Amino acid sequence: KLHNMVQELKGNIRVFCRVRPVLPSDSDVEANMLFPDKREHKEIVLESSSESATGQERKEVYNFGFDKVFEPSATQADVFEEISMLAQSCTDGYNVCIFAYGQTGSGKSFTMEGGPTEETAGMIPRAVEQVFRVADEMKSKGWEYTMEGQFLEIYNETINDLLGAHDFDKKKHEIKHDPKTGATRVTDINVLPLHSASHVRTLLATAQKRRSVAATLMNERSSRSHSVFTLRIKGVCATGERCEGSLNLVDLAGSERLNVSFGNGATAERVKETQAINKSLSALGDVIAALGEKGAAGPAAEGKHIPYRNSKLTYLLQNSLSGNSKTLVRPPGL
Ligand code: ADP
Repeated sequence: KLHNMVQELKGNIRVFCRVRPVLPSDSDVEANMLFPDKREHKEIVLESSSESATGQERKEVYNFGFDKVFEPSATQADVFEEISMLAQSCTDGYNVCIFAYGQTGSGKSFTMEGGPTEETAGMIPRAVEQVFRVADEMKSKGWEYTMEGQFLEIYNETINDLLGAHDFDKKKHEIKHDPKTGATRVTDINVLPLHSASHVRTLLATAQKRRSVAATLMNERSSRSHSVFTLRIKGVCATGERCEGSLNLVDLAGSERLNVSFGNGATAERVKETQAINKSLSALGDVIAALGEKGAAGPAAEGKHIPYRNSKLTYLLQNSLSGNSKTLVRPPGL
């Protein structure tokens, strides 16, 4: 599992766990979650009990360690406090990736997009606001920033432009890397100038509305696709210094599909979707594991092969996951 793999990793990958509150719609909660390390909030223990065939109670205990654990009472502001510096480091020329990983219903969209009020706003609007605020503050130091954004969805290993003029245009979008500049481009995709945080909020809300309309038509498709919002930022200073960074905010497809085995009811389409999610989530895990090994081996691992090309997601984010990148993966809430 992704969170087991990254647990051991050091360096520029952080793994946080957010446990969402129990909702009235949740069925009986059989598992009991404990937060033993109250001071550091770095560990959760999951106790689950079940009855074996002979009627005996069987208890299982799992320990999970993270860089940080957010209890159900944590607010959006609490979570953002931990990632705000990471998010704003794109203004210093870093390429930042923040992923939400977990099964459907675990709170990925709540965390990333959030609700309509200031209090419930998620990581995407907060991060964008922070970047614009920092860019504004840097004006007094002679820096001028320009920002542009794209928002896409990867569904069945196909890229759809969520800022396109039409719902899921039939254009074939390809990922191109410029080996010289390290820039990544998706062909025929809308890259829009971003003027302010509220402008970005409007763009994203329109795209999400379109996506959810399509989702009801296509059977909750949004939980079976990855969405990637990319903000690219270029800064020029009066001294002639320049910097270019990016912030990638990724809401991954529901991880439960990895383990779901469909009975006779499985349609060919479902099987295809499951395979695509399987492929891209495990490709992401492989890339993160390879980067971790490389990081641990230090300069000796220079030139080590990282399998970015195994999925659209990792290929798209190749330049943000390697080199001068800061990466955050959020493993499943339960
Ligand atoms: P996912 O995107 O992982 O499928 P959602 O973000 O849609 O999950 O969350 C499922 C439900 O739980 C939604 O109704 C959402 O509003 C609620 N929820 C998730 N996280 C929280 C939280 N931290 N506080 C309150 N409600 C939450």
